[in-house]
Amino acid sequence: MMPFEAIAVFASASDSAASIMTGSMKSWRAGMCWWTFALAALCGCVSPSKPVVRIAISVDWEGRDLAPSNLHAYAAFRAAHPSVPLTQFLNAAYFTKRDADSANVREHMLRVIKPHDELGMHIHPWQSLVEASGVEFRTTPTIWGEQHPMRRGKIDSGHEGSVESYTSSEFQAIVAHAKEILAANGFDLGTSFRAGAWLAGPNVRRAIRGEGFLVDTSAPDPMWLDEIDAYALPGMIREVWPGVNQHTQPFTIETSEGSLLEMPDTGALADYITADEMVAHIGAVVDRLDGSDRFAHLGFHQETAARYLPRVTEAVRRIKELHGERVRFETLCESASHVQ
Ligand SMILES: [Zn+2]
Repeated sequence: MMPFEAIAVFASASDSAASIMTGSMKSWRAGMCWWTFALAALCGCVSPSKPVVRIAISVDWEGRDLAPSNLHAYAAFRAAHPSVPLTQFLNAAYFTKRDADSANVREHMLRVIKPHDELGMHIHPWQSLVEASGVEFRTTPTIWGEQHPMRRGKIDSGHEGSVESYTSSEFQAIVAHAKEILAANGFDLGTSFRAGAWLAGPNVRRAIRGEGFLVDTSAPDPMWLDEIDAYALPGMIREVWPGVNQHTQPFTIETSEGSLLEMPDTGALADYITADEMVAHIGAVVDRLDGSDRFAHLGFHQETAARYLPRVTEAVRRIKELHGERVRFETLCESASHVQ
């Protein structure tokens, strides 16, 4: 039997909200780091001061639902750490559901997105999104394994499908349409991407690079996923990301469409890693600081924020207390601009 927790995970500018609701649609781009990233790549910028651990905290918007309890927990994090920017991996599938009310979806999302955040993209192969993109929907394989066929939801299905089961051109069509949907709803994305269930294999890499994404953060340390060891996903991740662990630093991936910078998701997401483990993880990265900056990652799912986000809230507080200026919380694209 599949644990509820596992299903939940993968099932898994407030000031701007007012303007969105009042009339003319404004394009909303949080942060401007896509630009600084491109500039840094051109000028080869280097860190001018003491080496630090650069920590990006990301949010995976699963595209399932926008429950008040999760948004409430999310708002509590923002109140606890107002200066910590987040990298928002937005999902277009909220807008493709049969009963979607776009204005309502936008208003809910903008409650917790802040101007200093980065906007990126997250995709799970939801049937509504796949078919809206003109691609044939697939029900196999699932990330849970052959013994666990895809569950058919009343409103939508497909969250547990593998993104890598789609061809590169099919997935590019999905990415392109998701970008259009988010842009039409005022979300102007930067150049960062995370694949559903971390499965950014060759097809996904080629597709996202073809759509202009320059930074991927889908490579986790599968060691954190011991809670779901009985399922197929940890093995699928090891196949896509051999050798990645919590200390893996950014690396370049070549695709036929150009290079991608992989910024590993070193601390996975809060559903799988306790506050103590997050603090220990960052401490271990700080211990490895020598002559240059190091990069680390923490994160959570919007859909399970009520249950797991308090772990991140506590960990960030303790990390700040323990490490002070040796750590810096920033967006992923800001971190990427400092990769040598
Ligand atoms: Zn996801």
